[in-house]
Amino acid sequence: MQRFHFEQALLEDGWSADVVAEVDEAGFIAKIGPATTLADGDCQKIKGAVIPGMPDLHSHAFQRAMAGLAEKRSSPTDSFWSWRKVMYGFLDQLEPEDVEAIVAQLYMELLKGGYTAIAEFHYLHHDRNGAKYDNIARMSDAVIEGAGKAGLPLTLLPVFYAHAGFGGKDPETGQRRFIHDIDGFEALFAALESRAKDNPLLTLGVAPHSLRAATREELSSLLEIASDAPFHIHIAEQTKEVEDCEAAYGARPVEWLYRHFDVDARWCLVHATHVTEGEYGAVAKSGAVAGLCPLTEANLGDGIFPAREFVSLGGTFGIGSDSNVSMVAARELESLEYAQRLSRRERNVLAPKPSGNVGSFLYNAALAGGTRALGQPIGTLKEGLRADFVVLDLDHPDLSGRPVENILDVLIFANSGGLVRDVFVAGKPRVIDGRHLQEAEISETYKKKMKSLLANL
Ligand SMILES: [Zn+2]
Repeated sequence: MQRFHFEQALLEDGWSADVVAEVDEAGFIAKIGPATTLADGDCQKIKGAVIPGMPDLHSHAFQRAMAGLAEKRSSPTDSFWSWRKVMYGFLDQLEPEDVEAIVAQLYMELLKGGYTAIAEFHYLHHDRNGAKYDNIARMSDAVIEGAGKAGLPLTLLPVFYAHAGFGGKDPETGQRRFIHDIDGFEALFAALESRAKDNPLLTLGVAPHSLRAATREELSSLLEIASDAPFHIHIAEQTKEVEDCEAAYGARPVEWLYRHFDVDARWCLVHATHVTEGEYGAVAKSGAVAGLCPLTEANLGDGIFPAREFVSLGGTFGIGSDSNVSMVAARELESLEYAQRLSRRERNVLAPKPSGNVGSFLYNAALAGGTRALGQPIGTLKEGLRADFVVLDLDHPDLSGRPVENILDVLIFANSGGLVRDVFVAGKPRVIDGRHLQEAEISETYKKKMKSLLANL
């Protein structure tokens, strides 16, 4: 049993000073409470403000390595679709060893950015010619290995991708590395189940890529395969996607989904960006998580999710780093709130009513939604959950003299960098004084891989 004494900690019912936590051999919190009620002997003192680590509910890890390559005008109207062309060109050359190195680098950076768990939406399954590897889980294994190197708990979402458009359209050449039929996907899922059985930091879910890539019948089969595991899907990121769905199915994507499926709390609807009042109302009521990726959605020019309306109906959301143009959890939350402010010309849009701190609301809401979407035992510092936490530096000038209720506002909106000092997963240090414990080795490997990848591009 390990014991910690936290100077300040954000517990289920708010901030508390002088908190003692007992963490068992498996890395779970056995007891947590005031130092006056729990014996303080042989405790590891943690100076600073301890908060639960943020779950990252949506990532395509390999895109970390191409971030910045598509920031150049290539047509009179660049869009998501021209960005996707660059992305397909980049992923064409990736080998499993490259993916492992990129995952390790990215996940290390995400830990440093305040994330302590991730859902990886993993669709790169086959070799460069689109043929299956002898080990059908070869690419998934590369992700699992990379996650293990960085020490970031993973919800792996193998992606089912079969079509290039609504109505079961044949896939394109650029998609050959993603494609499965249901039988092939079931075999992959079974192989991954055996990995998850032996790895306490691996959870398994299923992700149909989108309504473009999976038909109604295929979605039904995937729900059966997934049983009660997390179920994620890209839903309404692009207006063209909404128009194509209406043309093919006579309904908008979210509308169509709710008409045909019993969507519930294990669903995560990623980029539910383009939704009508009826649609976001249905999502809020169903308990499904809206997977928001504000910086990627801004980078790709997707649009703005009606977050205030959704939240006022009791909707649940979480955040994802998605294309990994940023690895900092607080920046995603900042961007989420700022898009709402700019579109409404108001301040503190996502603060609780009638009053309250917007930073605390954003952080706690994203913790709850991310936890639901990942299906991991995380999200709060309380008994029975994994001891995943981030230590903010209270000696930092940004936090000097601040009352505790202002800490999360500063973290999100007034952070000059360096507030995230240490990061622990399952009670074990991953980041100390802003440096990951395996940083030198992970970064050297990544840099070598990047030099050869970019030389061949
Ligand atoms: Zn995505």
